[in-house]
Amino acid sequence: MKPQVRSARNGTLIAGPVGLGAPGSSLIETERRHGARNYEPLPVVMTHGEGVWLWDEHGRRYLDMLSAYSAVSHGHAHPRIVQALIAQAQRLAVTSRAVHTDKLPLFLKRLTELTGLDRALPVNTGVEAVETSLKAARKWGYRVKGIPEAKAEIIACENNFHGRSITIVGFSSDPQYGDGFGPFAPGFKLIPFGDAAALAAAITPHTAAFLVEPIQGEGGIVVPPAGYLTECARICREHRVLLLADEIQTGMGRTGKFLACEHEGVVPDGVALGKALGGGMLAVSAFVATNEVMQVFRPGDHGSTFGGNPLAATVALEALAVLYDEGLIERSAELGAYLLAQLQTIKSPLIRDIRGRGLFVGLEVDARRTDARTIVDRLLARGVLSKDTHGTVVRFAPPLTITREEIDWAVERVRAVFTELGKGMRRAA
Ligand SMILES: *Cc1c(COP(=O)(O)O)cnc(C)c1O
Repeated sequence: MKPQVRSARNGTLIAGPVGLGAPGSSLIETERRHGARNYEPLPVVMTHGEGVWLWDEHGRRYLDMLSAYSAVSHGHAHPRIVQALIAQAQRLAVTSRAVHTDKLPLFLKRLTELTGLDRALPVNTGVEAVETSLKAARKWGYRVKGIPEAKAEIIACENNFHGRSITIVGFSSDPQYGDGFGPFAPGFKLIPFGDAAALAAAITPHTAAFLVEPIQGEGGIVVPPAGYLTECARICREHRVLLLADEIQTGMGRTGKFLACEHEGVVPDGVALGKALGGGMLAVSAFVATNEVMQVFRPGDHGSTFGGNPLAATVALEALAVLYDEGLIERSAELGAYLLAQLQTIKSPLIRDIRGRGLFVGLEVDARRTDARTIVDRLLARGVLSKDTHGTVVRFAPPLTITREEIDWAVERVRAVFTELGKGMRRAA
């Protein structure tokens, strides 16, 4: 397949030949010189994306098995979402919440229908949705549960990832995330992930909420034991503690259900959504919760200039519609199981574990023999974009639109990388 200059699906999107004319090294150099060094990107300059494919400035093609950390679950430049974006941008994009618009109500209503919750509060990025949930939980703790002022506690899990604000990195167990950014907000407590008994033991009369990822994403695609969420929900109910699910990465069908909580029939008191909610186009996020939780917010308590703007609401509504119209959630369940099974046929002493749910799969390498970055680099050279997380796990989370054939294509490349590394090991031995 040659790199396309004009898209078959949407001819308007590609302005010129693939590649920016300047050699990659020069653009990477410019970024290095003028940008903050808070990221260490793979050495590739992407210029075009369509569906599950990305093209770099030299016209080389990559199968996107990362999909922007699950923000691009619909694939790049999904034609329906692009059309919705363009049409709405030409009509009305941003107003602020100083006025009503004709788009936001429909977006809010849809979020409540899909989550089984009562009210939604739209913001932009994931970290804002989590911050919103923390503010809601504390205020609920004081005004509804009756926790004494300034005493509210929120329990979270070790190895969590909930974003990068000072509050949130303050309760990260990854020392790098908080290093140099203190002092931090008090009132957070960490317990091991996957251990419901630890939750029961950590709850005090001052506990307002338990914040948890149904499957830890950045932590390495860590799937908790079956029944964990059900048990946590029961414990929370028993002690009148809110269950807050961070579904920013696991939601939107990523694990084969709209919310990962649905695998255990759990409806949390509040859910944070983001990433794929923006259809791979915009930053759109939301905190969705019960009436009891959401009623703590009064006008002026909380907000965001861009939150719920008509452009974001339109794109998110279209992203939600596409998810159902194209059966992407069932697809994630089916093809995710297939991807997992195919990866598990790769036999290598370098592989320690392969796990996941839906199209959300982690391949953990044996840290004594190799590291995840080595695998990611070699996959990139073979045209598969993936990303390491926590040093030893390679994450595979392609757009949910991926086909069985494309999965086969990727798995063959993963197999080839392990065969190649295995040969090197035998020679070295
Ligand atoms: C990505 C992510 C966030 C933060 O989202 P941003 O949009 O980067 O702020 C929070 N929680 C989870 C589980 C995530 O995966």
